[in-house]
Amino acid sequence: MVERRCRFCEQIFLPSKYQPGQLVCGSPDCHRRRRAEYHRQKIAADPVYRQVCRDSPQKWRSRHPDYWRRYREQHPAAAERNRQRQHVRDQKRRLRNLANNNSVFDLKHSAAGVWLLGPGLLDLANNNSAPAQVWVLEALPPRKPPTSASCKQQPPGELVASDG
Ligand SMILES: [Zn+2]
Repeated sequence: MVERRCRFCEQIFLPSKYQPGQLVCGSPDCHRRRRAEYHRQKIAADPVYRQVCRDSPQKWRSRHPDYWRRYREQHPAAAERNRQRQHVRDQKRRLRNLANNNSVFDLKHSAAGVWLLGPGLLDLANNNSAPAQVWVLEALPPRKPPTSASCKQQPPGELVASDG
């Protein structure tokens, strides 16, 4: 077996007996550079490969429908961590949308009263490290009061609207 010089890090290495034509040493960094170089050359030379790389993740998922389900089954801790992070991202997005909602008046100066209902929430109120969430909900428009117009105020020919 003949020693070679890695063309990335220029260290001397012994090629694998399974890959006598090996030109790059076995270090992870040089492997990564070799793969990146292969990827660039392949994209330049192979239109099918280029198209596959351009495909959206949605297309990829539709061609590999079981991949992520299997991944979640095999990596439950990672799946749970991802679920929690997604939950936080969803909450942030909802709050951003709320802040950008033009119908909300100046949030900085709103005096918010927070009401805690439920038997277990006394601890929450006394726990200083508990994160507080204030949900701003748009109130329903007030119901129209029942029409009490007299016959004199009502235009001729119009029916009295009933509420309900
Ligand atoms: Zn190397």
